[in-house]
Amino acid sequence: MPQQHKYGTTRRYRRVLVFSVLTFGIYYLFYYLWLFRDLEDHYQKVLDFELEAYPTRNNPTTMFVFLFFLPIYSVYVKYHLLHEHIATSKIKSKTNCLEGYKAMLVFIFLTFLTLGIVPLILEFRWQNVFNSHILAHEKRAKS
Ligand SMILES: [Zn+2]
Repeated sequence: MPQQHKYGTTRRYRRVLVFSVLTFGIYYLFYYLWLFRDLEDHYQKVLDFELEAYPTRNNPTTMFVFLFFLPIYSVYVKYHLLHEHIATSKIKSKTNCLEGYKAMLVFIFLTFLTLGIVPLILEFRWQNVFNSHILAHEKRAKS
């Protein structure tokens, strides 16, 4: 289940996967809507003090609609926003996710070749990177 923190929401990717398999992928579409909301929500929560960092601002509804017409664009934006945000933030995260265009290329060229395994690993990592960034915010706020 999603966990609410002061600076954002963390999610468990494994759980998302299980529910997605059980619902034949429908849950995954909603997961995309939620993660764009999480990014926008993070932007709203830190906009007063994480000034140096690239904003994770987006329009979740628009990104959700893109999933149906040009899903690769939603993938690009998802990775681009988080990668740039972490790369420019003073809040130190353990790792970063792939850059937007690289993730896009992986999704285009490696999805079928690796039976979806490599994109899945990237997706798993993306959520972990986002979670650890949110937790790093929490830690810094406490100290
Ligand atoms: Zn942040």
